[in-house]
Amino acid sequence: MSSSPADLVRAFHLAFGLDARSTPTEVSPDLAAHRGELLAEEAAEVAEVSVTGPLDRLAHELADVVYVAYGTALVHGIDLDAVLAEIHRSNMTKLGPDGQVARRADGKVLKGEHYEAPDVSAVLRRQGWVADGA
Ligand SMILES: [Mg+2]
Repeated sequence: MSSSPADLVRAFHLAFGLDARSTPTEVSPDLAAHRGELLAEEAAEVAEVSVTGPLDRLAHELADVVYVAYGTALVHGIDLDAVLAEIHRSNMTKLGPDGQVARRADGKVLKGEHYEAPDVSAVLRRQGWVADGA
């Protein structure tokens, strides 16, 4: 069995009778809010232990964020691996053809002139998403 996050989380949702969709879908406001709250809780736990540690607790909470994020994508029928690939493609265009990287003083990588924004809408449409009003 594959151990990709998407496959693991799908197995969890199926085992526990949680929502799992295969086509990008707007869900009920209650369910959408519930998923948002779960993710906010986990993100808050990451923030809490980021400075204080210990490292195993940070690792645990980071994994919880990823797990819940994949679960939320699954609830909405989003193939998150494909979206991640598009975000990565876009991020890599921040590197200029000369290999130069522009950085802000705090180290954040800046967008150069060759930067291409991610087209997440196109990724979701390829997954079967029909946007409202389309
Ligand atoms: Mg947690």
